[in-house]
Amino acid sequence: RFAYVNGRFVRHGQAAVHIEDRGYQLADGVYEVWAVFDGKLADAAGHFARLWRSLDELRIAHPMSEASLTIVLREAIRRNQVREGLVYLQVTRGVARRDHAFPNPAVPPAVVITARSVDRVAAEAKAAKGSGVVTVPENRWGRCDIKTIGLLPNALAKQAAREHGAIEAWFVDELGLVTEGASSNAWIVDAEGRLRTRDTQANILRGVTRLTLLDVIAEAGLPVEERPFTVEEAKAAKEAFITGAGSLVTPIVTIDGVKVGDGTVGPVASRLRGAYIERAKAGAI
Ligand code: PLP
Repeated sequence: RFAYVNGRFVRHGQAAVHIEDRGYQLADGVYEVWAVFDGKLADAAGHFARLWRSLDELRIAHPMSEASLTIVLREAIRRNQVREGLVYLQVTRGVARRDHAFPNPAVPPAVVITARSVDRVAAEAKAAKGSGVVTVPENRWGRCDIKTIGLLPNALAKQAAREHGAIEAWFVDELGLVTEGASSNAWIVDAEGRLRTRDTQANILRGVTRLTLLDVIAEAGLPVEERPFTVEEAKAAKEAFITGAGSLVTPIVTIDGVKVGDGTVGPVASRLRGAYIERAKAGAI
């Protein structure tokens, strides 16, 4: 396996960054993850747009143009022989003597890219069975719209999920409303049969998969509302699912051990998974 580190590809096992990289010391950086279908980047434009926005919000310089970055991402896919999988990109503010404030003068941002294969046959089998989520109190900062590498609350939430045999944790705010998952957006098909996911005016990540799925839903003519839902509403819903570059559209059949609907994968979630994958494959570059 090969990784891209600051301008060159190196053996994955030898890939390293400096100990005073601000990502390592301060989580001062951002990341993106693209799904790869048939060796191509899915939802490429949406992930690039969010990457530039995350960098701009943190005043980290763009390390390269979109055209150059596309070439490097494709090279990462090629060198790792990925047909179906994921590409990870991380950009940090760079290497400088430890100081909370930004380095002055600025240093070049540091770029790391990895790519790996995913067993999509196994993923389909898993999705057909459905998975569980657990709920955890929302304890993240106020800028969850920025895709930063500061992921400790997400890591702890995901560990709680794993310890309960679940695949994801849903953060729940002080009003009892689900914000999003530790690495996905949260959806339900409510008791009235309407699709629901939280609006992005709230403190959540603007999921690229979420946005594409809204388009797929509009095209299918299904009723949908960008409105938050409570844990109670989710437990009483007909269906639940999560979206993300890693999870695509993954049906959820239990919430804190309580069955959603009859506890099996519902027709809407499985239909949308198929439709999303079809759309993502068709648009992949
Ligand atoms: N919410 C959080 C906190 C995430 O980390 C992610 C993805 O990693 C998502 C939502 C889903 O975003 P996307 O569909 O762009 O992958």
